[in-house]
Amino acid sequence: PLSLQDFVLENQFADLPPHFHTHLSASPIDKPYLVAASAEVAAQLNLDRASLNSPEFLDYFSGNQILPGSEPLAAVYSGHQFGVWAGQLGDGRALLLGGRSHADQYLEIQLKGAGMTPYSRMGDGRAVLRSSIREFLCSEAMAALSIPTSRALCVIGSDQMVFRETPESSAVVARVAPSFVRFGSFEHWYYNDRMDDLRLLADYVIAQSYPELLAENNPYQALLSTVTTRTAELMAHWQAVGFMHGVMNTDNMSILGQTLDYGPFGFMEAYDEKHICNHTDQQGRYSYRMQPAIGNWNCQALAQALSPLIGSVDDTNAALSHYPAVYRQKGTELMHQKFGLKTDHEGDLDLFANFFTLLQSNHADFTLSFRHLSKLSNQKSTKDELVRDLFLDRDGLDLWLINYRARLAMEQSDEQTRQTSMLSVNPKYILRNYLAQVAIEKAQKKDFSEVRKLLNILENPYDEQVEHDGYAELPPDWAKHLEVSCSS
Ligand code: AMP
Ligand code: MG
Ligand code: MG
Repeated sequence: PLSLQDFVLENQFADLPPHFHTHLSASPIDKPYLVAASAEVAAQLNLDRASLNSPEFLDYFSGNQILPGSEPLAAVYSGHQFGVWAGQLGDGRALLLGGRSHADQYLEIQLKGAGMTPYSRMGDGRAVLRSSIREFLCSEAMAALSIPTSRALCVIGSDQMVFRETPESSAVVARVAPSFVRFGSFEHWYYNDRMDDLRLLADYVIAQSYPELLAENNPYQALLSTVTTRTAELMAHWQAVGFMHGVMNTDNMSILGQTLDYGPFGFMEAYDEKHICNHTDQQGRYSYRMQPAIGNWNCQALAQALSPLIGSVDDTNAALSHYPAVYRQKGTELMHQKFGLKTDHEGDLDLFANFFTLLQSNHADFTLSFRHLSKLSNQKSTKDELVRDLFLDRDGLDLWLINYRARLAMEQSDEQTRQTSMLSVNPKYILRNYLAQVAIEKAQKKDFSEVRKLLNILENPYDEQVEHDGYAELPPDWAKHLEVSCSS
């Protein structure tokens, strides 16, 4: 692994014409300190683990110093917000430092919260410690759940205050992804009638992230088709783990089909398909049950933007129309895994749907329900109480369990094999809001131990980690009143 002196970046995005971005340095922050860092992400970047604790690391990843080879820039993009065309947005508080390749993987590094840019609009270019910790922990939790996502290398704090509803301490997150290009990056050129720039961006994304598409007849059509597939699969992953993004605007949709731009996200606890995790989303456009349809809506917005490159309306639609089928297929595959079924049978979808109906009417905890179901014996036993305790309607659950066991018997499911495989896909630990809240409140008092401990727990979400049982329990009563807003 490299030390910081040898950690040299290049910036491929900087090669695009000047109107794609603005070069600028981060605004320095006072006395940066390390809140937490991910050794896993450091390893992916081939960055020496020891350097995470060096003073130089704080300087480079707070934006106070510029890494060798780095050409910091803010990129322009536009987007649809809550279904409405919002016009120009852009990196208002993010700076792309550049990227580097290691082990055949190219990764870029962005600092979020490193100061104002020409795209800051009314904002101050800063991020609060609270939302920075949430983004850091959730990126790493999602990665550990094998869900495509941007990663986070570190959170660096500062006593410099920022003003939201109240004064809060600020922070910078260094996030990592092969590309930070968004659906809205394409919409930007399309709605500004800049077809040459649209083509430049598409060629750039294909060359950088999808080189295999160059061999296709119509690489632009193939790009739309691939992004549509990836987005549909991402939605299936989100639904299967109960993740809610909260702000699925087209400017927050990654062209790689990764989870991007963590804001007022949440994990489903007491199950309610209408749950809205972002309390400023009054209509529930981005509620849990809407996410798959919104993913499709966003792909349609991307299709609109790419249509001049693709050619005909028919060719554009052809690259889009598989969204529902891909979503259904991936979703069904993930559900079979969650329920421990190896084969496909008529009636499986009804069996799954009936379980979700019970989750809904009982508002049972999503994560614990699947985790405890994983431990169920093939025959009725005292272990049934684990799941039954989560449901008020015990009779309803018992009936469902009879059908479920009959279904397990149909494929002569071996109890232990099934339990092991279910426990490897149904997590014990997720980033519950209240867990993040406890870690944040300690961090605001300069005690970062809980952030670091949570990171370690969430890095192994399927392991029992019995010493941390408390982190898998139902949320306490005070957590019911936690609200997460967009202000970050
Ligand atoms: P978001 O809702 O975080 O995806 O942000 C939407 C747009 O607002 C993006 O262009 C952001 O860069 C910008 N933005 C959000 N917060 C700030 C801030 N504190 N300062 C400047 N720009 C911001
Ligand atoms: Mg955003
Ligand atoms: Mg943002």
